[in-house]
Amino acid sequence: MTSHTLNELIAEGVRGRYILVRSDLNVPLDGSTVTDDGRIKASLPVIEKLSDAGARVLVTAHLGRPKGTPEAKYSLKPAVARLAELAPFKVQLADDTVGGSAKELAGSLDDGDVLVLENVRFDARETSKDDAERGAFADELVALTGDNGAYVDDAFGAVHRKHASVYDVATKLPSYQGDLVHTEVEVLRKLTTDTQRPYVVVLGGSKVSDKLAVIDNLLGKADTILVGGGMLFTFLAAVGHKVAGSLLEADQIPVVQDYLKRASDAGTAFVIPTDVVVASRFAADAEHEVVAADAIEDSSFGASGIGLDIGPVSAAAFAEQIKAAKTVFWNGPMGVFEFEAFSGGTRAIAQALTETPAFTVVGGGDSAAAVRTLGFEDSQFGHISTGGGASLEYLEGKDLPGLSVLDR
Ligand code: ADP
Ligand code: MG
Repeated sequence: MTSHTLNELIAEGVRGRYILVRSDLNVPLDGSTVTDDGRIKASLPVIEKLSDAGARVLVTAHLGRPKGTPEAKYSLKPAVARLAELAPFKVQLADDTVGGSAKELAGSLDDGDVLVLENVRFDARETSKDDAERGAFADELVALTGDNGAYVDDAFGAVHRKHASVYDVATKLPSYQGDLVHTEVEVLRKLTTDTQRPYVVVLGGSKVSDKLAVIDNLLGKADTILVGGGMLFTFLAAVGHKVAGSLLEADQIPVVQDYLKRASDAGTAFVIPTDVVVASRFAADAEHEVVAADAIEDSSFGASGIGLDIGPVSAAAFAEQIKAAKTVFWNGPMGVFEFEAFSGGTRAIAQALTETPAFTVVGGGDSAAAVRTLGFEDSQFGHISTGGGASLEYLEGKDLPGLSVLDR
């Protein structure tokens, strides 16, 4: 599996050529204000490299989930305004994606100029299941690049999607991995092949059903899987404990029991918390207490108590495992970290990741948000993945259309 890189494209020469770049500009907005410009900042280096080398850069990106037709609230306008503030090059936004405005502005670009095309998901063909429809849209994107164009995929968060701007354009133009995609793939490869041991995986988050496929693929690969978050209650139920009003996916209990059974043969140990923080209700100011994980219904809140975090004993035990590891992958907060009272477990894990000599990777949108909200710096971790869904699907062992299409 090898793909050509952006540096190879630059070395081939891009001056005067139209280079189509798929970026991830899917930023959170409050009205027309970008509330977190992380993805814009992360996308800037590749666009800048191409601009510096004299390319005429055409950027495609999506924002939110419009229904295949233009909607003002999903316009890339705020994202592009922020990009223009950060950029040392000229940036414009077309009023449409492949229409009159895109064609006219593309035609008037000078070397080094950047034109962002409006939200690719304003065209229903972008996400169509019909190969011919997506192909036709891709043809229109490719046509904007003239007869000497190339394609760079820098949107790691979208590589698991078989969409026109991710997959089909790469079948029609010479294609290259952008630096963001390249880095992500290098990191994820370290988590799947020749992984440095002990390899500890920390899984949390809300739903166990979201993480089952990745657990399945990690059995036999990870030495230890530490279980926290909402999913821990399905694990507790699977070993016969009552979980009161905690998040429980009863239909997944047999699946979890099967994993627990297969784990020891596969050489993977699950570590399930021995204590949990139970609250009277789901609220920031709820009354709460620490109880043993096998006695959740014995808390003062009885059968209505809900587990909202792992307990301090478990957090310390998890931290010890992390500090003794050589490789750590973390996906999913340990508790409802959005409420200060239930952020202790997540904070302890984040802290341990900053203290271990291991190579550490944080995956998942909420996990990345958690480490930042809790006051940690990105630089304290080996790698913070930009694509939650895409990185999980990679670790599930799935084929990612946007990556395999770049292979040759
Ligand atoms: P990521 O985006 O990192 O993959 P998820 O989307 O799977 O993570 O889950 C994140 C959410 O899980 C957070 O909003 C957090 O509040 C929630 N969560 C964690 N622990 C619990 C719990 N015990 N009960 C309910 N929700 C929880
Ligand atoms: Mg999430």
